[in-house]
Amino acid sequence: MTNINENFLKLQNNYLFSTVRKKVEEYQKQNPTKKIINLGIGDVTLPIPKSVIEAMKNACDEMRDSTTFKGYGPEQGYDFLKEKILQKDYYSRGIKLEKDEIFISDGSKCDTGNISDIFGTNNRVAITDPVYPVYLDSNVMAGRSGEYIEQNGQYEKIVYLPCDCENNFIPELPKTKVDMIYLCYPNNPTGTVLTKAQLQQWVEYAKKTKAVILFDAAYEAYITEPEIPHSIYEIEDAKKVAIEFKSFSKTAGFTGIRCAYTVIPKEVVGYTRNGNEISINALWNRRQCSKFNGVSYITQKGAEAIYTEEGKKEIQKNIHYYLENAKMIKQALENIGFQTYGGVNSPYIWLKTQKQQKSWEFFDELLEKSHIVGTPGSGFGPSGEGYFRLTGFGSRENTINACISMKNMLQ
Ligand code: PLP
Repeated sequence: MTNINENFLKLQNNYLFSTVRKKVEEYQKQNPTKKIINLGIGDVTLPIPKSVIEAMKNACDEMRDSTTFKGYGPEQGYDFLKEKILQKDYYSRGIKLEKDEIFISDGSKCDTGNISDIFGTNNRVAITDPVYPVYLDSNVMAGRSGEYIEQNGQYEKIVYLPCDCENNFIPELPKTKVDMIYLCYPNNPTGTVLTKAQLQQWVEYAKKTKAVILFDAAYEAYITEPEIPHSIYEIEDAKKVAIEFKSFSKTAGFTGIRCAYTVIPKEVVGYTRNGNEISINALWNRRQCSKFNGVSYITQKGAEAIYTEEGKKEIQKNIHYYLENAKMIKQALENIGFQTYGGVNSPYIWLKTQKQQKSWEFFDELLEKSHIVGTPGSGFGPSGEGYFRLTGFGSRENTINACISMKNMLQ
């Protein structure tokens, strides 16, 4: 008889996106002539930059020739890409790291999920609420969550850090001791950011309590305000306590190609039950060497190309396009009286519904009156109730039409 990991049975079925799809299909069936605009997209829509395509084509050509052919690469990634990351993403910001502190991977989803492997199951986990679901689900699977409590929509052992308009989306330091802290900035879904001073408090907390911060910076490239940190390592002493996840998905349109990286400074340590310090970098390296065989050479060559002058220009153009869309949506919503958050350093706009309207009720109203699809905030956690997420990832034409349609909604 084969036993299963029963923690998987504690996972709550997240019906969010399938319910959205079903509702939209139903509406379209009832209203076949209506053109529905999807502003719920969490994926990029612009094509891959030319310089990336060219670099990948050249890498393919290298595969033709037995002198340049590449088989298995290093599990941690090729040096040529790590060197570019170090120079352009870190040294340029005054952050000193070494090559063996960078781990190239096939996505931040896998890394933020898999990192849980190397931590003890008795650790207390803190997540912001609302949250990108991977952090929570991977810890439920690992057995750190305890039971799900139907009444409040929370797991008994997870420490939730509510982020809403009451606290200006700034999570408070936990009242109970936690060991693993997931922070995501710029945030998905709220689109909000933390300042250096606010992040400094978390670093201080982690130092004091010997906790580890798992910092997801997947949307770092969308930061427009100069004072907002692009890396947690801009914060003093963060190299002692923080792991950083960065992805080429939203930065360079790699959601389908798949490439990301995780930074684990050698100073970050965890502890055995006896209190002995263990290098987290060494543990992750061991884990990757056992379970991961590296990202394809072709993909890493494509990622390298975004650090060229041409590549940089191309990705900036795409990011600017999505941010312009976000700005238009934000403006349109504010013009009709909605309170909005995000959309400045992020492709996500988080709006507060009016008159205590529930997220799903707002979804129905927006679809009915404006034929626009978005994502109900309650799907991202209990504190997302009464909020709604729209994104700048649609086409310009659809975004403009959606803004006009929203304006008509109240007339
Ligand atoms: N982290 C956050 C906060 C995200 O929103 C996403 C994707 O939507 C990811 C990570 C996933 O990134 P990747 O495509 O590199 O797996």
